[in-house]
Amino acid sequence: MRIVMKFGGVSVKDGKNILHCANLVKKFSEGNEIVVVVSAMAGVTDALIRAASKCCSEPSAGYIKMFIAEMMQKHYEAIEYAVRNEEIKNKVVATTERLLDELEKVLLGISYLGELTRRSEDYIISFGERLLAPIFSAALLSIGVDSVALTGGDAGIITDRNYGRAKPLPTVYTTIKSRIEPLLTIKKTIPVVTGFIGVTDDGSITTLGRGGSDFTATILAAALEVDEVWLWKEVDGIMTCDPKYVPNAKVIPEISYQEAMELSHFGAKILHPRALEPVMRKRIPVRIKNTFNPDSPGTVIGSRTEDVTDIVKALSLIPKAGIVNISGAGFDFAEIMSEVFRRLSDERVNVIMVAQSSSELNLSIVVDIRDLDKAYSTLKNLENGVIKVDRITDVAVVSAVGSGMAGTPGVAGKIFSALGRNRINVIMISQSCSEYNVSFAVDSSEGVNAVRVVHDEFELGN
Ligand code: ASP
Ligand code: MG
Repeated sequence: MRIVMKFGGVSVKDGKNILHCANLVKKFSEGNEIVVVVSAMAGVTDALIRAASKCCSEPSAGYIKMFIAEMMQKHYEAIEYAVRNEEIKNKVVATTERLLDELEKVLLGISYLGELTRRSEDYIISFGERLLAPIFSAALLSIGVDSVALTGGDAGIITDRNYGRAKPLPTVYTTIKSRIEPLLTIKKTIPVVTGFIGVTDDGSITTLGRGGSDFTATILAAALEVDEVWLWKEVDGIMTCDPKYVPNAKVIPEISYQEAMELSHFGAKILHPRALEPVMRKRIPVRIKNTFNPDSPGTVIGSRTEDVTDIVKALSLIPKAGIVNISGAGFDFAEIMSEVFRRLSDERVNVIMVAQSSSELNLSIVVDIRDLDKAYSTLKNLENGVIKVDRITDVAVVSAVGSGMAGTPGVAGKIFSALGRNRINVIMISQSCSEYNVSFAVDSSEGVNAVRVVHDEFELGN
């Protein structure tokens, strides 16, 4: 088989885990061709984002020195444990020092300029992945597995210039194939590619959006026409609901692309929301596997699951979101709509769902709670004699997903009567025309209760 395997976050949180993952790659590389994608060590991307903004707002050379020293220590400790050969270790320490030197210079540059563009922010946060890929590759070499570390750009992930949320160009698939395929078939080596980052055609580093390493993995998978993508996580697979909210939630063995996409859009932190696009067209299955329980089969997304028709298969909860309401009457509806969404897009607001009642203009837009202020202030100045804009700050969004909901009467009725019996007030409802999904907003104090009630109603738990 040819497999793309992605490791990130807690799976690679320290040297011990990195070595464990390298051993998993070694184990599965027997008889298989493997491409590895790594994200940053747990917490590193967040730390880089904080450092970048701090250098811009409160410049201090002392802070930069301290930050670089912390990064050095974290990665150095990882190398110490994960790389079991002196010569290989010395080489990767030198690479790490060179990268951190570069990072220090960029941070100093930001402090002098007092300005942080999206382009420089992408450059700074790319260091998390760029530091880990050589370490992971060295760990493989030190256990006798031939390997080479590559950046997303080296691998052929050329993107547009939409920094922070860049899109790969349509030509990436042929570029990747020409660069990576020979490593697998001729050189017989395991490429370790930085997830999350790409490069523009004129050489500046971009990122694909938070959690983007999954997306890197599936882009590579589509280009190399692999048999499967394995996303190694810290859980046994996709669950009927986050067990943090619903303790009796259970693992789902098979789920369709569409269902998994709906779930990740509505806050189930399984996948980067765009990650399934490249593999869906080629019908390449994506397996979620547990790094710490590697023999369990996990969840398979795609592959002959389109005909599995559970009515409600899984639920997701966004515990805190906000709503902006736009209301009024007597004006061109389409014109206002286009202005509303243009503004939200300019402000890069993450829109979770939209509902509209048809008699007059009454548009409710649910947004990520972090974007609520931005969304509200940009829409507030649309107000005039006829248009009114207000907001609700404290809602939770529950989403029920299942491909069998399409064409099955009574599903919405069942959901809302269960909520009614439990005296949970619904603020807003939305159903996509795919009918794979019914979502509703409730007061945030009732989110967890609402998700439990629906989970029980459809007997999804153990
Ligand atoms: N390290 C990046 C992030 O934290 C990408 C990823 O984890 O996939 O968003
Ligand atoms: Mg990460």
